[in-house]
This record gives sequence, C-alpha cells and structure tokens, in this order.
Amino acid sequence: MVKPSMLNRRRFIQASAVVGATALVTEAKVATDGDYGASSSVVARDGEFCNWTGNIRSRPASMVRPSTLAELQAAVSAAVKVKAVGSGHSFTPCAHTNETMIQTDDLTEILAVDPVLLRVKVEAGKKLFELNDELAELGLAIPSLGDVVVQSLAGAISTGTHGTGMAWGSLSDGAFVHGMELVLADGTLLSLDADRPADLPLLQAARLGLGCLGIVYSITLNLVPAHNLERRSRLMTLAEALEPRRYHSNDHFEFFRFPFTDKVQGVTRNITTAPPQKQLLRSFFAKLVIENACLGTILNVASLRPNMVPRAMALLADLVPSEVQVDRSELVMSSKRWVRAFEIEYAIPLDRAAEMQERYGAVVKAFAARRKDPYYANFPTECRFARGDLGNLLSPTQGHDSCWFSVASHISFAGYESFFRAVEVELLEVGGRPHWGKMFYRNPVELYPDFAAFAKVRQHLDPHGKFSNVYVERLLAGEEMKNDLSV
Ligand SMILES: Cc1cc2nc3c(=O)[nH]c(=O)nc-3n(C[C@H](O)[C@H](O)[C@H](O)COP(=O)(O)OP(=O)(O)OC[C@H]3O[C@@H](n4cnc5c(N)ncnc54)[C@H](O)[C@@H]3O)c2cc1C
Repeated sequence: MVKPSMLNRRRFIQASAVVGATALVTEAKVATDGDYGASSSVVARDGEFCNWTGNIRSRPASMVRPSTLAELQAAVSAAVKVKAVGSGHSFTPCAHTNETMIQTDDLTEILAVDPVLLRVKVEAGKKLFELNDELAELGLAIPSLGDVVVQSLAGAISTGTHGTGMAWGSLSDGAFVHGMELVLADGTLLSLDADRPADLPLLQAARLGLGCLGIVYSITLNLVPAHNLERRSRLMTLAEALEPRRYHSNDHFEFFRFPFTDKVQGVTRNITTAPPQKQLLRSFFAKLVIENACLGTILNVASLRPNMVPRAMALLADLVPSEVQVDRSELVMSSKRWVRAFEIEYAIPLDRAAEMQERYGAVVKAFAARRKDPYYANFPTECRFARGDLGNLLSPTQGHDSCWFSVASHISFAGYESFFRAVEVELLEVGGRPHWGKMFYRNPVELYPDFAAFAKVRQHLDPHGKFSNVYVERLLAGEEMKNDLSV
C-alpha cells in the first residue's frame, strides 16, 4: 500500500513535472537573454534599463557605449549626471539613473600582462567569464570567484563581490586589486597604484567605490597560476556543515541549507594536480537541471500552494546528488543561475555563524506559523566563508574573518520583504554588515568606522555629485535604503 505521505510526494512531483516543461523553457529563455548571452540585453531594452532580478527599472535620458578611453572621457565630461552599468546584476539601485548611463560592454581589452608578477591590467567592462577564459590561456587565474561569472570586472569590484575560501577576501580586496584608473567628473584620468604610498588613501576608497567616485576605466589585478579544483558535493546535516574544520581545512567550502530542515548541501573545492575529468552526463544534469530547472519548477508550483514549501524543501534536499568534478578552477567555482530570486546577504563574524543559523531557523518557523500573511522561506540559504578584506574603507568583512549569510526568496513568492527585514534584524544583532550589491533596508553607514573617510574621498573626487544617484544619496543622508525602483 502507498503511504499517504508518499502519495502527496508523488502528486507533488507530478504537478512539478507539468509546470516543469513550461518553466524549463522560461528559465532557459531567461538564461540565454541574461546570462552568457548578449551581455547588454539585461541592461537595455527599448531604452529601459532593468536589472537581472527585475526590481529596478530606469529610463536613462541617454545611453552611451564607449569603446575607447577617449570616448569614455568625452561621455563623462559631457554628462550632467552619469552612472556606469556593468551586467546589471546588482539587486539594489546602485547603477540606477534617469540621466546618462554608460554601458561598459565594449571596454573589454586586456591592456598589459606581467608574467613575472602574475599581474594583468584590464579594461573595466570585461565580463568575468571572458576574462577567465583569456587568463587561462595566459596560465593565470582569479583565486576566488562567486557563484556566477557574468558580472563585469568593475561592477563586481565596486560592490565587493566575493566567493568562498578562508585564504581570500573579496574581489575588492587589497591583495587582489593592485591599481585602478578612474575617469573623473571633468574627464581627466586618475591613476592609482598600490606601489605609490601617496595613492593608498584614494585606492582604499576606490577598490570598493560603489560606483560613485568616478567611472572606472581599468583595473590591475594580482592573480595566481592557473590550477584545477576538485569539487565534491553531498548531503550533510547542518551540525556537520558548521564544524570549523570544514572551512579551515578545505580551500573553498560552502553550504546551502534547506529551510524547515537541518539538511544542507555541502560543497568543498580543493586544489588538485589531477587533470580535468569530463563531466558525467549525470552530474551535468544534476548541475544544470536539478539546480536550475528543477528548483525553479518546484518553487513555481509551491508558490501556488505556499504551505507545501516545507515539503518542497525536504524534497529538494533528497535530490542533492553526491558527486565529484575536476576542472579548471573558474569552471568549478561558478555555475549558471537561471532561477530568479530576491536576495539579502550579510557578512557576519565567523564565530557567530552557528548562532545565526539558530536565529534564522526561529524566524523561518515564526513566519510560517503566522495566522495573518504567513510566509514560507522557500530558497536554500547559502553560507560562505572568507578572510576579512585588507585595505578597504567599505568592505563588509573589514576587521574580521567572516561567514557570508545569504537568504533568498523566489520571485514568484509575495511577502518576502517583512521576512527579509526580520532576518536583517538578526543579522545586525550578530554584528553583520550588508553586501553592497544585494538588498538591505537598514542604512549601514554607522556600521563602518571608516565611512566618514570614504565620504571625504567622494567629496574630494566628485564635489558636485556627478556620479551620485538615489542609492548614494540615501546612503549619505543616513536614510533607509530602497530596493525597488521603477523608472
Ligand atoms: C545571479 C546572481 C549571482 C550573484 N552571485 C554573487 C556571488 O556569488 N557573490 C557576490 O558577492 N555577489 C554575487 N552577486 C552580486 C553581484 O556580483 C554584484 O551585485 C555585482 O556588483 C554585479 O556586477 P555587475 O557587473 O552586474 O554590476 P552592476 O550591477 O551593473 O553595477 C554595480 C555597481 O558598479 C558600478 N559600476 C559598474 N561598472 C562601473 C565602472 N566601470 N565604473 C564605475 N562604477 C561602475 C555601478 O554603477 C553600480 O554602482 C550575484 C548577483 C546575481 C544576480
């Protein structure tokens, strides 16, 4: 006889399969439009800018797409107010403008390579996936990358984009960004180099500059030799995943917790001399289909009956494959993300990671139990581990090794904002600071001992606020932040 729970599960899977066909097509369409496909399509359709998640829309008075430094300088000096946009992958209005928007898609050259110092100078609009491919040919690699590599180099650096691994900070880290060139408000070029002590005060601001100090033209990066990584993924308990040895003894460790369960997908990535192994069809299927189409499908179905979410989360945990993959580091660190979700992410001190999991679990339960407007946490929570950034005024990890704690909500679920706000209260309680490219509500200025120094640099480099926008203005005024803007 079939057990009732099995029956529910089967019905649920059948329902998922029906919606699945549609969802697969939709998610795949979205992916080709917005992922590795035409890089500017997320940014500009019919003169409208729309970010990846779709919560920010602007209608810039003009869009300019320079392909040389001289064109960039001319565009900046002609503009009254101007913002650069990379790949539009930030969840906040940091790139929003209704005035001049500079698309950086054509600023993509590698300008210089130093094979002895393992250093390259690159134009700022280069997409990370393109850069990775060209670096591999040079025998070089970026040591730690985030989940996706569709961002532009300057966009990623301007918000402190990070991966996981205790040996590394974010892409804005002083050990990674050696130099920068910025076009200032009058069109002149400011060159900053970590080897010149006089440049350091400005470089410490510009490395994570929130796009408001000038338009970045080029970035000089310190790299590591190209290498392979072995990735292992398996189902673990939350307690296992939180053992400090996991993040201390693996080059890169992260985990995804399934809400309403104590189950996680634990992922280790370690440097290996083993050659790349052709990805088995099964693990290719697991990565692309289970992590994208299947997740998207299940969440689309669950959004119609939100009280099914706890079961959906348990089902997703059961689908976690045990798998091994060896490949070039950049191919193993990042993957494709087709499932659209809103996201909040904070860096918290490493020693508060377990406590934060408990706090998060309590918020999840409380929101699901609400009589009025219950909300069901519907997306695996991602936890990553990183060294505190060196030499930056605005790095969220400044001063402490950190656990990056990210909470997302699939775009088909309503009511996520009050949940995010409640989680944010807990993240602040444990000493967190928000990711500058993800959603946050509480103005974080007072969390940064060096914010006044950053504001001073901004005033010095951009006294008339040419590179300012609603995001920067709210930040500087100490106001609550806004995460949805329509034209
Ligand atoms: C699916 C997805 C996955 C993600 N994964 C991760 C992850 O694993 N780790 C992580 O830390 N973050 C992650 N993020 C966040 C993302 O990396 C950041 O928001 C990043 O800033 C996006 O880069 P972008 O090129 O799209 O920049 P945009 O969003 O276009 O711009 C970001 C900021 O940079 C400024 N800017 C861009 N180019 C220039 C320039 N040339 N000069 C001056 N300012 C400039 C913009 O004005 C804006 O202020 C993810 C986001 C998404 C949507």
